[in-house]
Amino acid sequence: MAKILLVNPNRYTQPPVPPLGLEYLAAALVRAGHEYSLLDLTFSDNPQEALRGAVEDFGPSIAGFTVRNIDSAIYRNNLFFLDEIAGLVSVVNALGIPVVAGGMGFSFAPGEILEHIGARWGVDGPGEAALCVLLESLERGDFPAKGTVFDGWRLAGTLAEEQEPFRFTGGVDYGRYLAEGAVAGFRTQTGCRGACPFCAEAKRKVVFRSPYAVTAELADMVSMGVKNYHLCDSEFNQEISFCHELLEELAGARLGISWALYMKTTPFDSRLFSLLAGAGADLVTITYPCGVPDEPELFTRAVSLAREHGIRVAVDYLCGHPGQSERDVARELNIFRAAAPDTVGVNNCTRLYQGTTLARRICGDPRLHDGLLGEVDGNPGLLRPVFYSGIGLERMRELIGDDPLFKIEGFEHSTNYQRLSD
Ligand code: SF4
Repeated sequence: MAKILLVNPNRYTQPPVPPLGLEYLAAALVRAGHEYSLLDLTFSDNPQEALRGAVEDFGPSIAGFTVRNIDSAIYRNNLFFLDEIAGLVSVVNALGIPVVAGGMGFSFAPGEILEHIGARWGVDGPGEAALCVLLESLERGDFPAKGTVFDGWRLAGTLAEEQEPFRFTGGVDYGRYLAEGAVAGFRTQTGCRGACPFCAEAKRKVVFRSPYAVTAELADMVSMGVKNYHLCDSEFNQEISFCHELLEELAGARLGISWALYMKTTPFDSRLFSLLAGAGADLVTITYPCGVPDEPELFTRAVSLAREHGIRVAVDYLCGHPGQSERDVARELNIFRAAAPDTVGVNNCTRLYQGTTLARRICGDPRLHDGLLGEVDGNPGLLRPVFYSGIGLERMRELIGDDPLFKIEGFEHSTNYQRLSD
């Protein structure tokens, strides 16, 4: 049995986000017979001191850090997170405890982040099984080479298992999170079948959880008084038959929850929206564009179906990509005006992530470098934020006019669910 300290170093609080990934990891570790303690530094006044104290009190043989994001991913008022995380990892290193890093943001550039924050090992992808493999290896006295990154996607199938417990929230102060404007998260699947050229989550292996496990987990959370959620799947509608099955199970449990989710512009059907409403979903954020055929028509139909079932709609709109003219952007804004969702968040600066089709194209074509915001050279893994903008802020403002439907991202720190609950 290994003793592992799970650390949430993410201190972004606009709004704060409970460390869902660590809660699932904690359950997987207990199922595998290990002992864990979860240290959530989100609200800590002195995170380095809190971390030092937790290591000394618990005496772990290893510490696991989650990296939720490299930075805030928005150009204006960007916040870079890795330097603070590196400072925290150095506290643990100084105490002689090896650190393994993982999390969604870590998977965007595993090798470079590992080096930047000074962790010994990493997990690229879901950590539930890969972390247990590492712990078993350490218990045998078999220490992987420094810098080893384990492939969590290879073992991602374990997410589909129905073994309980599904999730542990010990160490996470939900009372404080909810008081500070957070909602809880949950997950029905991992990965995405989409191929959006700008996205670091594109074409990730999709593994569905059992509808029973998702529902049982939420029933436990509701018994703790937590009723409002945001789904943490990349996009919910990967496979329509799974969505139907999951939503039927959830609706049948009558948990009295309300929740928000992300969706792609395809696939969907009318039944999906009817089942979403029956299962308590009251806000859908649609990603646009996803680069699929007939996207304007699909989008308009999805908005209409959502409204028919009393579900509010937000749009995450990304524009200004190479090859997209101002006329194209103006046409898309008119599509949104006609469909009339509740709000459209406009992002005219796209964060470039290492390895994405868009980053490769832009970095490899000097003719596009005029649109770069940030340094590409001497920036391994594009860790320091680099954006591309093919359409400037002033022009974007002119195209939008004074239409209150649109909000250009980066001037206020708020999420769609916060905007629509005002
Ligand atoms: S659909 Fe969403 S998560 Fe999937 S690749 Fe596109 S932007 Fe990324």
